[in-house]
Amino acid sequence: MKTLLVAECRQGRPADATAELFGFARTLGAEVSVAYIGNPDDLPRFDGLVYFADVRDSGEYDPDVHKRLLLQAVEAGRPDAVVFMHSSWGWDLAPRVAAALKAAQVTEVTGVVGEGYIVDSCNGKMRRTVRPLTTTVVLTLQPGAFPALQPGGAPEIHLLRAEHGSNVEFIRYEPPPADGVDLTRAEVIVSAGRGVGSREHVELVKALAEALGGEVGASRPAVDAGWLEHSRQVGTTGQTVSPALYVACGISGAVQHLAGMKGAAFVLAVNTDRDAPIGEVADLFVVADLRQFLPALTAKLKR
Ligand SMILES: Cc1cc2nc3c(=O)[nH]c(=O)nc-3n(C[C@H](O)[C@H](O)[C@H](O)COP(=O)(O)OP(=O)(O)OC[C@H]3O[C@@H](n4cnc5c(N)ncnc54)[C@H](O)[C@@H]3O)c2cc1C
Repeated sequence: MKTLLVAECRQGRPADATAELFGFARTLGAEVSVAYIGNPDDLPRFDGLVYFADVRDSGEYDPDVHKRLLLQAVEAGRPDAVVFMHSSWGWDLAPRVAAALKAAQVTEVTGVVGEGYIVDSCNGKMRRTVRPLTTTVVLTLQPGAFPALQPGGAPEIHLLRAEHGSNVEFIRYEPPPADGVDLTRAEVIVSAGRGVGSREHVELVKALAEALGGEVGASRPAVDAGWLEHSRQVGTTGQTVSPALYVACGISGAVQHLAGMKGAAFVLAVNTDRDAPIGEVADLFVVADLRQFLPALTAKLKR
């Protein structure tokens, strides 16, 4: 199988997640080429072909221009799969490329079985296996689902023709407002999930965080419920953290959450369900009702 991995580039710099595209290709045992619209000093390092356009000619992300550059790469390389990360960049660009190629698109792939791709459904409660029926397929990968791999090597460059003219104009990037906490620096994070059950019980999580000298984090449902602010959300649409200790309270371990905390050195999970997927990454898994366990642990730590 031939894959064209589409390396994301923002403000001239390649995204770290490109390593996960290589991890996916390794999982498939696929032949790899890369499309890279970026800075010539940051070309992906591997022994293979890079379809390259210089960002100084093509400009910052423009869906029309990027699509046409990628179609050049597809025409030259005739890949079986064109693979993006499921980032705000990838989910904007992938369907445009798929539509232009009349190719099936499989979105948010988390795994591979035979000729099928695994995708979450029902907000991560179920998994579907999908087999594309077109010759070429466009895929977006769920961040964190595949191992990060830095192959190393010296690529061969295929220059793409400059493309100009677009229906949109890039204006600027805006950093998010600097409110709330920077979890990326925290050594200890105690996170509240939907299993916490209510705003009132979030206080149990806060008390344990305080006793451990750590910060409070959250899964997305805990943020959506308004129990904690978005700056505390851990996961693909929140922060990526790597504390010495991560305590997951009432968190099931959906791939979108794991993507944000799998860099933690030690994971303690508290969950009533002994089969919860968080158990796969937990160093210590306490099967208990957090409403009983957290106060007991906090009291012990305080003593
Ligand atoms: C595009 C996209 C982006 C997303 N981004 C993120 C993200 O950045 N971060 C994120 O977290 N999620 C994200 N999600 C949502 C994600 O798919 C999951 O739905 C979410 O992580 C589940 O949160 P949870 O574990 O708190 O809740 P649930 O999956 O509902 O799990 C609750 C857990 O609590 C346990 N429990 C219940 N009661 C108790 C109790 N009394 N004591 C102990 N345990 C108890 C249950 O057994 C269960 O395991 C995203 C989803 C999508 C589609």
